[in-house]
Amino acid sequence: MRFETLAIHAGGEPDAETGAIAPPIHMSTTFRHGPAGERVAGYEYVREGNPTQDRLETAVAALEQGQAALAFGSGMAAMTALLEYLPAGSRLLYPRDCYMGLRVLLSEFLPQRGVQTEAVDMREPAALAARLDASVRAVWLETPSNPLLEVTDIAAIAALTKANGSLLFCDNTFATPALQQPLTLGADAVMHSTTKYFGGHSDVMGGALVFARKDELYERTLHRRHVTGAVLAPFNAWLTLRGLRSLPARMSWHCANARRVAEFLAAHPRVTAVNYPGLSGHPGHAVAARQMRDFGAMLSFHVAGGREATLAAAGRLKLIHNATSLGGCESLIEHRASVEGPNPVSPQDLLRLSVGLEHADDLIADLQQALG
Ligand SMILES: *Cc1c(COP(=O)(O)O)cnc(C)c1O
Repeated sequence: MRFETLAIHAGGEPDAETGAIAPPIHMSTTFRHGPAGERVAGYEYVREGNPTQDRLETAVAALEQGQAALAFGSGMAAMTALLEYLPAGSRLLYPRDCYMGLRVLLSEFLPQRGVQTEAVDMREPAALAARLDASVRAVWLETPSNPLLEVTDIAAIAALTKANGSLLFCDNTFATPALQQPLTLGADAVMHSTTKYFGGHSDVMGGALVFARKDELYERTLHRRHVTGAVLAPFNAWLTLRGLRSLPARMSWHCANARRVAEFLAAHPRVTAVNYPGLSGHPGHAVAARQMRDFGAMLSFHVAGGREATLAAAGRLKLIHNATSLGGCESLIEHRASVEGPNPVSPQDLLRLSVGLEHADDLIADLQQALG
């Protein structure tokens, strides 16, 4: 079945009891069992698993072409669960440009558990090769990355990690499986903040992991979620499933809009640079064209005149809201340096834009009046 069809039908069998086409939400926290704990329909307690979550996991696994998926209460909970697999004494290599939450997790929490972490410029597979040795248990990728939209060659990195006996984990939140499927390129597990494009409407938090194999990594992570409880609420599973039905359709509109907005910004005299892999001048354009179906709807750009001019332009936007997060129907912009705490890593002249589903002409008109 093709991707668009899977998105509509995976995990979508009509309800066995009523024939309902839209799936029921099972809110029950507990499921009847026999006097000696014999399961009636496979379920016991909601923290372990529930039918609404099962539907979502079936769908997410199908979309990423994985053997199994696990839903979590947030993207960070999913990321944390995966990284907790790493034993004390091991090393984890991660990209120099990456999601802020990962950076905090790796600098504050993993070292406490005895896991060493090092940033690498993953755009150069040779830079990774030089750092690999037997102590590297896993490599983390994020492509395109947040907020600089750096592109990494997943297949090239996977060849290196495989030869080194390391696991390859990939945050696929920006691209979504509609555009890029890291498991098919050699990754061992994929992580999503489903809060973004999967949910798609800025109204439901969640996270997911998808596994290439139903092996020990999957079994340990499943058990860890059951014990530590970073689970997704049934209602959130239902909303996320509802959102992902339209993921392919939304992504093609998102991408078409982003291409137009990126081209407008690239030609604007007050914009000094645009980071969007769809532009032919982007350093990762060729790799992105090879491993992605389209170039996504996240971009960032640099405004002439430094921090003050950049904040002033963001402040003049009327249609595009200043807000964090991404992947919703509405376009959102953010001056990342302002929200990164006391030691910001993003450039002061950088704005990150999540291009939404409005008409591109209206987005361009808003950016035009704001940039002046
Ligand atoms: C939002 C995001 C996360 C974290 O997900 P939450 O659902 O907010 O916990 C991780 N990675 C990327 C790329 C994100 O955009």
